[in-house]
Amino acid sequence: MISQRSVVACVALMLLLAACSATSFAQRPTSQPAVVPSPKSVLGFTPGDDRTIAGWSQITDYFERLDRASDRVLVQTLGQSTLKRPVIVAFISARENILALPKYKEIQQQLADPRKITSKPQRDRLLANGKVVVTISCSIHSTEIVASQMSMQLAYELATAQDADTRSILQNTILLLIPSPNPDGIDIVANWYRKTLGTPYEGREPPELYHHYAGHDDNRDWFMLNLKETQLITRLLWQEWFPQIVYDVHQQGSNGSRFFIPPFYDPPNPNISPLLLRQVGLIGHKVAADLQAAGFKGVLTNALYDTWWHGGFRTAPYFHNSIGILSEAASARLMTPSTVTAEQLARSSTRGMRNATEVTTNFPDPWPAGEWRPRDIMAMEMISSRSILEMASKFRSEYLRNFFELGRTNIESTTNKGEPQAYLIPAGQARDEAVAKLIGSLIDQGVEVFRLDRELHVLLATPVVRRTNPVAEKVGSYRRLASLTSSAMQEVPAGSYIIFLSQPQRTNVLALFEPQIYPNRLTAQGEAERPYDVAGWTLPLQMNVDAPAVVAIKEAEGNRKLTLLKDANEVRADLALPLKKGDESPIKNPVKQPVRVGIYRGSMGNMDEGWTRYVFDTFNAPYTSVRDADMRNGSLNAKFDALILPSQAATQIVSGNAPGTLPPEYTGGIAEAGVKNLKEFVTNGGMLICFDNACDLAIKEFNLPLRNVLEGVRSSEFYCPGSVVALDVDNKNPIAATLPASLPAYFINSSAFTATSDANVRVVARYAKENLLLSGWLLGEDKLRGQIALAEVGVGKGRIVLFGFRPQHRGQTWGTLPFIWNALSNATAGSTEE
Ligand SMILES: [Zn+2]
Repeated sequence: MISQRSVVACVALMLLLAACSATSFAQRPTSQPAVVPSPKSVLGFTPGDDRTIAGWSQITDYFERLDRASDRVLVQTLGQSTLKRPVIVAFISARENILALPKYKEIQQQLADPRKITSKPQRDRLLANGKVVVTISCSIHSTEIVASQMSMQLAYELATAQDADTRSILQNTILLLIPSPNPDGIDIVANWYRKTLGTPYEGREPPELYHHYAGHDDNRDWFMLNLKETQLITRLLWQEWFPQIVYDVHQQGSNGSRFFIPPFYDPPNPNISPLLLRQVGLIGHKVAADLQAAGFKGVLTNALYDTWWHGGFRTAPYFHNSIGILSEAASARLMTPSTVTAEQLARSSTRGMRNATEVTTNFPDPWPAGEWRPRDIMAMEMISSRSILEMASKFRSEYLRNFFELGRTNIESTTNKGEPQAYLIPAGQARDEAVAKLIGSLIDQGVEVFRLDRELHVLLATPVVRRTNPVAEKVGSYRRLASLTSSAMQEVPAGSYIIFLSQPQRTNVLALFEPQIYPNRLTAQGEAERPYDVAGWTLPLQMNVDAPAVVAIKEAEGNRKLTLLKDANEVRADLALPLKKGDESPIKNPVKQPVRVGIYRGSMGNMDEGWTRYVFDTFNAPYTSVRDADMRNGSLNAKFDALILPSQAATQIVSGNAPGTLPPEYTGGIAEAGVKNLKEFVTNGGMLICFDNACDLAIKEFNLPLRNVLEGVRSSEFYCPGSVVALDVDNKNPIAATLPASLPAYFINSSAFTATSDANVRVVARYAKENLLLSGWLLGEDKLRGQIALAEVGVGKGRIVLFGFRPQHRGQTWGTLPFIWNALSNATAGSTEE
């Protein structure tokens, strides 16, 4: 990885001199050294062999050796992971391309922003000289481990093959191979796998989150950029290299299709260019055909996975004018073979596949059951990677042209009268940290944000979601309207921020700022058809940042003064917030009283728990993780003033992992003893805070006078799978202090309460009585309307605070975080019992 320095130096030089020759790379060996080491010669086994696993230091060591030995490979360290492991990328291409990487990066940056191209001859020159940049990213989900092992074999073969096809790939493409965007997780899985190898627990998944904060949600962070890994790779992809094709390699469950590859299932996200959807399909079918030709069975297309949600490794590219490809191979048991029976295949069913034994057009050759090994997964992923590189190489100029044209279309797209031209973030919102975070995330993903250096006169509208059929209560039927905030031009003060739609990332801005309206999709039985991920995520709503659409700008102000922001710290400086230095979060602890906080952390790897820690760490709010044994041991009042139960089913909290499924130290939950100790904690004056599902435990074990009205309700009656809804807030309650009377909140198959008696129940917020859905999908609105969303209940000398929704969902919902800080600020204020 010595060569990283020369790349960095060269880029710095380029910025100064706008010129960079390949001479910086002259120190590299000029002829191929005798031996490029195979993975086997370094690891002692071939990647993919049964019951073998390479941890992160072995993987980075192998790539370092490859960098030294092969002039087709250059390895760069992007930075450090959350737990301080190196995050790396290997550039793989022909020697002459590797020597000229800065030149190709410059071409990519020009193609990504057609405003930098001033003439047709210049454009034609770039299209003639550019290379297709392809990113392949492996095992972001660490238990989907095989691709991380495969990455070494893929790199080795590309570094050594001499055949004409490989040479053509190397000449026409530049591969950015990411062995894993989650190095910490590779070691969590590798260490666990080695520890359990040869025991009854071999092949089971580790009983912890495989990303320190996010677990599986590490692939839900690609617009929010909360995690260090997402930040590093987003910079590489969307500020520096702008790959035309991004391939994200995953594994799915064991018992269904052997391999999923696009085209995707419905619904498509309306902001994705149809041209991209077609290109995704074309590459997917090429992969499927190549796998079929190689004799592999069980390849599925057009099923389960959709393009609606934003925030995944393969979905972010769509909003940067690039092609995102996902593959999902059937899993073995980590690196241990598994056996799948015909009965299991017959029972496996998803959207777009009735079962994994039936021949259909999108699944023409079912796999016949039997043994399934890591080697099978690896072979399919190798073919798939190769297939994508071949497409990129063969249609080089088409990929470059389409990429350029999509950017151009976004810049030149005209706006009809009354439609948004821009989104505005007005100055003076008193939500400074949220404003800084929102704009910082936009800048980090390459969205252009300007500061107004003088006032501007504009016509503003707020995009809103309105019911179109209030009579049919169960039919979630909505339309998006732009409601003018005033019919006259309004003055917007200097210091406000503006995000124009005429920029290469137009569709990204729309996808983040518009309310989503998920189509009302039902199964043949009339139940709700589950979306692949969430249905709505509108970022200013989640963060409670006012961001109206600008539908007109006063003409005489065309020469308004604007400053393009380059860095999140510019916004922080504007708002007089402490500046970011290094990795430490500069945010001041918002909890006003010294309070001893415990966050329950069981041994089931609960993502909501991880995100809770993330939020506390980000806001520098102190806490202690409380394990099952701590709960069972008791004396909780001696250690804590407040305990938080992140969202988790009551049975999981109480019982944990079942005996026999894992080594004994990882089984069992807080048990009856823990429940008893929690009761004592509250009765003696402690504050217990429950998020969403965890409320169930408090309601039942403490006999609270509340009932979850959504418990047991069928999805044909009520369904809300990840949407932003409105709350009516009683901001006279200290828990809602400083919050507005109406506030967006995140609801993801969450809870809603009714009081069975008024005794000791104080309602802090209810789900809004009207205009409840703000973004996403809500079926059966009447079930939610007006129900309790947030309440506190006095118990003995203490209190229980029940959040029906997720106040800290994925670290995105900054709008509802103040509820948590307010509750904690009042944790030692004594009982509310009346
Ligand atoms: Zn995955």
